[in-house]
Amino acid sequence: MEARRMHTRLDYGKTYNTLENLKADLSDATFVKRERSREEDIPKDVSPHDLYAKCKTCGIEFPVGIRTNPRSFATSSYVGNVHKCPDGHVHPYDKQDYLLKKVN
Ligand SMILES: [Zn+2]
Repeated sequence: MEARRMHTRLDYGKTYNTLENLKADLSDATFVKRERSREEDIPKDVSPHDLYAKCKTCGIEFPVGIRTNPRSFATSSYVGNVHKCPDGHVHPYDKQDYLLKKVN
């Protein structure tokens, strides 16, 4: 009799697990939607742009010799790149320090 009760409990457990698996599938679908909306936030512009930095000493804006486009700039990381301004000041620059200027 005791063995039979345990068997019944196991069957209930199986049903519960199946429902959990269905829930997991739904959360995967939500995740895919979120990925798509993030993709839409990335700029579509792939026209050539030059990266400029503003000197942290004299404030002059100068091209750093990197050509990119808004789309790849948005998905790339730039950390601690060292550039020298026309007056000879040397500083490290991060992504937020750069300006994108369209190449004419
Ligand atoms: Zn400078």
